[in-house]
Amino acid sequence: MGIILCQVHGKQNFSKVCTHIWKEFANNNFPPMRKLPGYGVRVCDKCYEENYVEELPKITFEQLLNLPEEAYLKLSETLYPKYPNLSGSIKCVECIRYIELISARKNKKEPSFEPFENTLMYRDTEKIEELKKVLTSNFKFPKFRKSPLCFKPTDAFFIQSGGFSYPFSIKFYYITEKRHQEEILKLIDNFFEEIPQKQRHISFYESENWITEKVKIGIRTYKGEEKLLLENIVK
Ligand SMILES: [Zn+2]
Ligand SMILES: [Zn+2]
Repeated sequence: MGIILCQVHGKQNFSKVCTHIWKEFANNNFPPMRKLPGYGVRVCDKCYEENYVEELPKITFEQLLNLPEEAYLKLSETLYPKYPNLSGSIKCVECIRYIELISARKNKKEPSFEPFENTLMYRDTEKIEELKKVLTSNFKFPKFRKSPLCFKPTDAFFIQSGGFSYPFSIKFYYITEKRHQEEILKLIDNFFEEIPQKQRHISFYESENWITEKVKIGIRTYKGEEKLLLENIVK
């Protein structure tokens, strides 16, 4: 449980796996994996049995976070001693999905997710920047309004690079006129004509919906439901 910067996928969650699973990954095999309670380390059947993982209380990371301190310390005494035996390596979750995908194909099975291999990923940052330039030099975008996440006014669209389980996406805001939406889609279509990574998800939203709530300590800001005006998905 945590975040790494993957060379292919950028900022991602990662999973920690035991050394045996790691070896299987190196051979592009996707072995059965079992989750260790608490921090969600993934281990093979052998590690699971040899370390009596079955006897540990079934608890998730969120539950662990919310435990009162005393209960947490007590639980740690049984949980932590297991970890040195099971220490392995970490891998980006999208890279793990890639191994699942090629392993599934090798064994003529379906992967557990819809694959998006032909999409712009973090590794294609240069291409993504090119597209951004095409957009901003051909269209005058409205700016994001009072966003708690950006301090200076920026063009009101949000680009996210893709992974193996989700496509490259752009979300546009405050572009409500049909002819403007079409103009932008045309620029995007033209750009993708020229490159092989065509899978994409383009959407237009009426406006942002930031919600600020008072909580015990300070305030919590999050996004509520936003009205989708138009969506264009290329698979
Ligand atoms: Zn193992
Ligand atoms: Zn990755």
